Amino acid sequence: MADLHSHALMSMYYWRKTLDTRGRTPWLLPYLPTSSHIDVPRIRESGVKLLTFAVYAFFRWPHRDCFETAKAQIALFEGLVARHPDVLVHAKTPAEIQAAVAGGKIAAVLALEGGHHVGNDPANLAYFKQRGVFYITLTHFINTPVGDTYLASRFTRTKGLRAFGRRLIGGMEKAGLIVDVAHSSEKGFWDVMEVAKRAPIYSHGGAKSVCRHDRHLTDDQSREIIRRDGLLGVILYPHYLRIGAVWGKMEDVFRHLDHWLSLGGEDHVAIGSDMGGVVLLKEIGDIAGMPRLHDALVKRFGETLSRKILFDNAMGYLKRNWPGGPDR
Ligand SMILES: [Zn+2]
Repeated sequence: MADLHSHALMSMYYWRKTLDTRGRTPWLLPYLPTSSHIDVPRIRESGVKLLTFAVYAFFRWPHRDCFETAKAQIALFEGLVARHPDVLVHAKTPAEIQAAVAGGKIAAVLALEGGHHVGNDPANLAYFKQRGVFYITLTHFINTPVGDTYLASRFTRTKGLRAFGRRLIGGMEKAGLIVDVAHSSEKGFWDVMEVAKRAPIYSHGGAKSVCRHDRHLTDDQSREIIRRDGLLGVILYPHYLRIGAVWGKMEDVFRHLDHWLSLGGEDHVAIGSDMGGVVLLKEIGDIAGMPRLHDALVKRFGETLSRKILFDNAMGYLKRNWPGGPDR
């Protein structure tokens, strides 16, 4: 299995967990921010072969400080991998992911959730590329110099990408970093399509036709990502799958996948759980519960298609669009 989006680093940085020992997900308080979904003992049991660790610093002014926080989180990530060489490999290229998986290990890859981590200076992109970052989500929950989030765009004149964001996309593509349109406003999404040349990723979310949440993609947006040979990651957070759902059902995940499949997404759909940052579907519970997702998908979609959804689509996309490490 491949997971395009998780927040293990948030619990390391903000809640000071080492992730070395087994934690617990407290079901009675599922919204507790310290809810723990991921640690090394549970990663071992998860069947997840490619795990994306999203760097996330709460946005603040001056946002150049977020660059420092990102560096600190990356150092924590590198420490974690170094302490568990028998389990994790810090993969910086598609070839390194494949080698890790072939060797029975788990490929851990880095991503940034929010262009604010780049600070004021696009030259910082070189640092992220050098550390093996795979994609950068342009925005998060508040508007930044990069662009407007889906959440606040209705209150601004810009509504989409800002000048710094446009520059950033150019710099990212030059550096070999993938643009993630999750959290972008609708206008921001189309602004990105105007500027970006490479296939975009939508790392964690859903289809608006299935669940009318503002963060989700309209059918036109989903079709555009498919047309550009991009990747669509379905989130595993009940409320985003079906508004008001507290625990959620596997069926809620299937409905989003079914919809994207009906738009031609067979080779483009994948999983972006968002675990560690949200409440997970109760049937899954934590990363060690991912085999239940695997089994449910196989039962529903069959071996071949579920393989694509669970791993092959993500891996194929990476091979086509992630030019790999610093020495590419
Ligand atoms: Zn997110």
